[in-house]
Amino acid sequence: MYNVVFLGAPGAGKGTQAAVIAEKMNMAHLASGDLFRKAIERDDDLGRQVKTYLENGQLVPDEVTVNMVLKRIAELDDVTGVILDGFPRTLSQAATLNLALGGHGEKVDRVVYIAVPEAELERRLSDRWVCRGCQATYTSADKEAMESCRKCGGELYQRPDDTPETVKRRLAVYFRETAPLIDYYRQTGTLVEVDGQGEVDGVTARIARAITNR
Ligand code: ADP
Ligand code: ZN
Repeated sequence: MYNVVFLGAPGAGKGTQAAVIAEKMNMAHLASGDLFRKAIERDDDLGRQVKTYLENGQLVPDEVTVNMVLKRIAELDDVTGVILDGFPRTLSQAATLNLALGGHGEKVDRVVYIAVPEAELERRLSDRWVCRGCQATYTSADKEAMESCRKCGGELYQRPDDTPETVKRRLAVYFRETAPLIDYYRQTGTLVEVDGQGEVDGVTARIARAITNR
């Protein structure tokens, strides 16, 4: 299986891009944040365990996260590859992922780092509407022009962790806990950096190129 990790700050466009690329390349898309949000909606054991962390923009403890993600990876069948979106997010998660994949003779084959300047991240996160159906993201200007999702007709909502204070916390957590993964994966030679600014389609094209050139 072809294992790809999407790395980048909140607001870098990981979710949007991962969905498009997964569809294009017939890969599974596994987004840890989406899985947590679904568990919270279902109000199951996992959901109750992680709710406060998401609301506060803090990381869910590694053990909980790793257990959930590894279980989902093990359940995948009939796919040529998987895009991990939002995982790993700490060096410890990355080490555990390596061990788990290594146990099946696999590895992280490619890491796509979507680079976006901090000011742009803040701007995007402060004006973000997300589709409940397909997780596509829009701005308030988009929303006024269309009311429901252009792709699937789903309802648009604002994530409770997109408030200014929580956005600040999430960015701080990202720079402290997750940004070190850039160097970590650079050292293993699996990292490709892609410019995440500009048109969505342009970014998609750059990522597609980065993934297929192997
Ligand atoms: P974003 O990248 O826009 O912040 P995500 O949907 O990827 O959004 O994540 C939302 C929240 O889910 C995070 O703030 C965190 O609380 C939790 N989360 C997601 N992935 C992980 C992870 N790998 N480790 C710990 N917590 C996570
Ligand atoms: Zn949609």
